[in-house]
Amino acid sequence: MTIYVLRLGHRPLRDKRITTHVGLTARAFGASGFIIADVKDEKIVMKVKDVIRRWGGKEFIVDHGVPSIEYIKKWKLGGGLAIHLTMYGLHIDQVINEIRESGKKLLVIVGASKVPGIVYELADYNVAVGNQPHSEVAALAIFLDRFFKGKELHFISSDAKICIVPSAREKKVIKCEEGKQLK
Ligand code: SAM
Repeated sequence: MTIYVLRLGHRPLRDKRITTHVGLTARAFGASGFIIADVKDEKIVMKVKDVIRRWGGKEFIVDHGVPSIEYIKKWKLGGGLAIHLTMYGLHIDQVINEIRESGKKLLVIVGASKVPGIVYELADYNVAVGNQPHSEVAALAIFLDRFFKGKELHFISSDAKICIVPSAREKKVIKCEEGKQLK
């Protein structure tokens, strides 16, 4: 399933941490790409790629400086759906099954500051993860989790170099090779 996350309105100084978290959440919750729209931020790209190098996901696409409106239009022309996460949209419970059952590739759009009106118009779905203001990271995580019905939390990339051994008390990190864990 192809799901890319498009990060709008990134302000390099102010948003560096939260935009990094959007990228890491996209990867960890089952998306296949993360794109920072309109501005370039090499440091964030490097940070996400560094996580990919150690924790796996070499097929995960990371890009930046991509013109947002053109990208959304192209995505739709290519047969994909544009899903804009916004507290003003339709409640996720109302639309998530329809989106999943569409079988189409998804571009999940999240904002930072005010999102331009044209994005609401271009979106096939404006989806609210509850109609209260919170965060792009929370909205993205819950959207992906509902989409994958929680299965994404059990995913380990086949090219991961390090893996965690779940533990009730200690931090246990081991080397892993081709999806298998090595002690
Ligand atoms: N003030 C901005 C606006 O009016 O567009 C939104 C700022 S909010 C901190 C940043 C992003 O978080 C939004 O663009 C949206 O993608 C996401 N977000 C926040 N609350 C949300 C909600 N309840 N449902 C879906 N997305 C939400």
